[in-house]
This record gives sequence, structure tokens and C-alpha cells, in this order.
Amino acid sequence: MWNLPLLKQLFDVKDVALILILGIPTSHVSRPDSMGWFLTRTGRYSVKSGYGLEQQTRQESTPLVFGPDTRSLQAQVWKVKCTQKLQHFLWQSLTGCIAVGDRLKSRDIQIDPQCLRCGMTAETVNHTLFECPPALQVWALSPIPTVPNRFPTGSLFANMAHLFSELPNDERMGCYPWLLWYIWKARNDKVLGNVDWDPYDIITKATAEALAWANAKEKQETGITRVVHSVEAISSGVKWMGHGRKQIVGLDWAGNITPPNRIGGSDLGHAMYVKNNKVEMVFETDCSDVVKMVSTPEEWPAFAVLLDEVDRSRTRFTSFSIVHIPRTNNTKADKLARSARTLPTDVYYVNSVSPAWIPELF
Ligand SMILES: [Zn+2]
Repeated sequence: MWNLPLLKQLFDVKDVALILILGIPTSHVSRPDSMGWFLTRTGRYSVKSGYGLEQQTRQESTPLVFGPDTRSLQAQVWKVKCTQKLQHFLWQSLTGCIAVGDRLKSRDIQIDPQCLRCGMTAETVNHTLFECPPALQVWALSPIPTVPNRFPTGSLFANMAHLFSELPNDERMGCYPWLLWYIWKARNDKVLGNVDWDPYDIITKATAEALAWANAKEKQETGITRVVHSVEAISSGVKWMGHGRKQIVGLDWAGNITPPNRIGGSDLGHAMYVKNNKVEMVFETDCSDVVKMVSTPEEWPAFAVLLDEVDRSRTRFTSFSIVHIPRTNNTKADKLARSARTLPTDVYYVNSVSPAWIPELF
């Protein structure tokens, strides 16, 4: 049992509630406190996680810079629903990495930075993609609504931010990455090959490609079987079954609070406890992490308490081993476990034939 007054003294109220809700077991063995690194799953320090933390701290402590901070805008690029190629193009546009006159000039390339299509102003990324008359025409005719002084404007970042997060919730809006791409392609065809694109052709091409991409994506996603955990409360089921000389234990778990990597460890302890009157035991699990944890507990300090429990329980067997088995090869135990979880009450069943509620087992 947790010493509640001591918990309250040592931990934040929210953490105390979590400890109690999650039912984190207290250890049966007295082990000294140890250091752990909780930015990795195992609890052991890794250079990669240390570097990640350092980067994060640095970003958070960066002093304010003058001018807009476009990093969050850049990060949004990778969430835009389009192909990787287009995401990359959006990122290049935002970071000024496309070869427009103004950008080339800023790299000391001897070039007239004027826009070669309209000759009215310097050819910036924003001018090319949003404000040059041929681009403006495309936006005006496209399904994307244009709002005076709002979109498009003279600010590349404002225009991109508008496209990323201020468009109406309408699937036709999804074509904008393709529109930008074809506006850019049309600019290149004009500047490099003197080929003119009709704005309607740009829109037709962009919307058709956007639609084809969205359809292909939807097909791909519905083809995947999704595992949805809808169980509100945590419940675990452990069942074992005798069949001739062979004993089968099935264990399963459902819940939405405990991180999945805890499941194997804690339930393994449970299963060992249930079956500790057996003298020889082979545990087969489809969670390969559990096998690693039990064989090299020193690599998993985050699970030290649970692994101590396993260690303590294993001494009760004359022989103990744990091996990995793919779930497809362990269907009987899996069925037992699932059936255990769906039963409304605890049922203890020891027999040489299948229980009535899972007749298809043997
Ligand atoms: Zn222009």
C-alpha cells in the first residue's frame, strides 16, 4: 500500500492522483532508490535523447529575435496533406530556397532581380507565387477564396499561414499545394522556354492531381486494419489451461492509461504469480521487449521495480525461461486471454477440455 501522506509530501497532487489511478504496484522487495533517465523507453541514457533534450531546451531559451519567427510555420509544412515532393517544395518556398531573381541576387549572383514576366518589381518568392499577375489570376480563378488585404498579401509568411490554417473546411481547398507547384512550374516554363500556361489549365491540373492523391490516400488508409482501444477502464485477463501435458496461459490487457510498454512486464508478473505452483515453466510472449527486459534487466531501469518482481517470482520455478513467439503462432493462448477479458466476472476453470465459452479452441 502507498503511504498517502508521504506521497502527498513528495509529489505533485496530479502525480499522486496518477500513481493511485494507475495502480502502480509497490515493490515487495526493498530496493534502494536509483537514477533513471525518463526520456527513453528503457530508462537508460542515450546520446540521441540527450541531444534531443538539448535542442529542445535551446529552442525554448532562444532570445527573441526581431522579425517573424517562421520555424513553427516551417514545421507545419510537414503536416500539409500532399505528396512529399510538394511538402518539400513548400518548405523550400518558405525558406527562400527556390531560384527566383531576388534570391539569386542575394547570393551575389550577377542577375537582374526584376520579375521577367511582369517587369514591375523584384522577383521575390512571394511575388512569383502570389502577386505576379499570372499568379494572381490563378488564385482569383481557383476554388481558394481571395480576400482583399488578407489573401494574397505582400507577405510570404502571412500567405502561407493563411493557406495552412485559415482556409474554410472544404475538401476543394486541399488543392493549394498543387496550385503553388504549377504556378512555379508555369513561371519556369515561361522564363526558361517562353511557354505560356493558361491559368485555367493550371487550376484543372492542380485540382485533378489533388483529387487523385486524396482518393489514393483514402484507399490506402481504409485498407489498414485499425486497432482501436475503446475500453474505458483498465482490465486485464489472465487464463491458463491444461491440455494433456501442456499448460497454456493466456494473458491480455486492455486499457488506455498505462503505456503499452508496461503491459508485458506487469502482466508477466501476474501470470507468474498465478502459475507459481508449476515447477517448470516456459513463458512465450509476442512482446519482444518483455523478453529483452527479463534477460537484461539492467538495460531497463525504468522497469526496475516490475523486473524485481519477475526476478523474485522466477525463483519459485525449478526452471524458468521466456521466449518470443509471434502472435500468429500463439493463437490458443491469445484466444484464452481475449475470452478472459470479455467475461463479466472472474472465472476459474481447470479442466482437460475447452471451456464452453470458447468451444473452438481445441
Ligand atoms: Zn511578376
